[in-house]
Amino acid sequence: MMKEVPESKVEAPITANANENPYEIVKSLLKNSVEALGLTEDVYRLLEKPIRVLEVSIPVRMDDGTIKNFTGYRSHHSDILGPAKGGIRFHPEVNIDEVKALSMWMSLKSAILGLPFGGGKGGVIVDPRELSKCELENLSRGYIRAITPIIGPEKDIPAPDVNTNPQIMGWMLDEYDRLRGYNVPGFITGKPIIVGGSQGRVEATGRGVVISIAEAAKKLNIPLESAIAAIQGFGNVGSMTAKFLHELGVKIIAITDVKGGIYNENGIDIPSLRQHVAETKSVVDFPGAESFDSDKLFGLPVDFLVPAALENQITEKTAPQIQAKVVAEAANGPTTPEGDRILNEKGIFVIPDILCNSGGVTVSYFEWVQNNMGYYWKEEEVNTKLEEKMIYAFEDVHKMHEEKQVNMREAAYIVGVGRIAEAFQARGWINDWSMPFKCKA
Ligand code: NAD
Repeated sequence: MMKEVPESKVEAPITANANENPYEIVKSLLKNSVEALGLTEDVYRLLEKPIRVLEVSIPVRMDDGTIKNFTGYRSHHSDILGPAKGGIRFHPEVNIDEVKALSMWMSLKSAILGLPFGGGKGGVIVDPRELSKCELENLSRGYIRAITPIIGPEKDIPAPDVNTNPQIMGWMLDEYDRLRGYNVPGFITGKPIIVGGSQGRVEATGRGVVISIAEAAKKLNIPLESAIAAIQGFGNVGSMTAKFLHELGVKIIAITDVKGGIYNENGIDIPSLRQHVAETKSVVDFPGAESFDSDKLFGLPVDFLVPAALENQITEKTAPQIQAKVVAEAANGPTTPEGDRILNEKGIFVIPDILCNSGGVTVSYFEWVQNNMGYYWKEEEVNTKLEEKMIYAFEDVHKMHEEKQVNMREAAYIVGVGRIAEAFQARGWINDWSMPFKCKA
């Protein structure tokens, strides 16, 4: 039986500051890490652009009988470590540069986590709030038909992102299976468990965020039982992060979503809040907290600040207010370069997005493995394997941070780029870490 797509998955514009172009930001970070590793510029040339970007038009028959044409994209940044992998975003502000940047971040996440994947990402320019359930299903199926030539379990494996969810993955899976004429569960991840989804995938990104926060707390000697946190965003990632922090005894004093904020200095009761959000689609009017001005969230004196909503939130305007000891980037690209510079100056420990939120792609990898084997794991097994991989990746990045005396973001880029460069070398694209390539003829 079909389930309704939750309204809470439908949100406002992603890019708060139109002047911040994520594609330019990620290119500049890549360039710096290529230099820090002493690699030739050839490596940057190989990484600066996605290997392919597809733009598609998706004609959808609307409920009133007319046809509307939607624009969608799919970007493959790299397939050097394995098939491209990355989510699909439905949002009115999706644009080609955002999709390219998101696919580049996916390459880095997979490299940091040691997953056999390259980077991919897709998006459709649409405000899903304006579609009926039937139109949304037709759009989801139409997008898969349009990008079919470049996807598949050995080429590119999509997954959910902002405003897409397991139900949409289920429709997409069904469309792909119909086109192929047989079941191909490993073509998409984040799908409902009954059609090959993995146990623990819905919780995976938030669980991974909390594993990295716990690792950071150990390094910084912050006892979790007496720690305080604030969270921006209460969708999939924000709500799961809140759930697992709460279970560890962390007091979450403030949470915001697109409609407003709530505050309770004694700590918000997260299980009751999740129930309230399931019923009302927002944290606003939660009886166990007072209402709160969302603009004040970043200035709260907390141990952990978790942006789990949008890009470009920590900027030259908001970063000076931040008092947190740790900023855990659950969202992709929440910090602008200027915001980052200020966080560094203030000595705030940042767990960068490409490490912090990589629990999602890790369990997507487990889902793909289970689909390919046709043998499924219990949730405990998934969670144990996720924890091992997250802690290992955190340690790798932290070691690099200490060895090279760079911040955690720079360290994460160096680890990711270093692994991709190693693969370029193994495949013969670059000769030596410092030598220019010479064709042996
Ligand atoms: P979602 O659509 O489930 O939730 C987004 C949340 O952000 C909602 O609660 C919404 O109300 C809130 N929000 C929107 N605008 C806001 C604002 N101005 N102020 C405060 N809150 C606001 O999306 P999601 O899947 O939770 O993704 C959130 C972020 O995490 C995105 O950057 C996404 O790319 C990233 N991410 C998601 C996954 C995943 O598995 N879903 C994995 C890795 C990274």
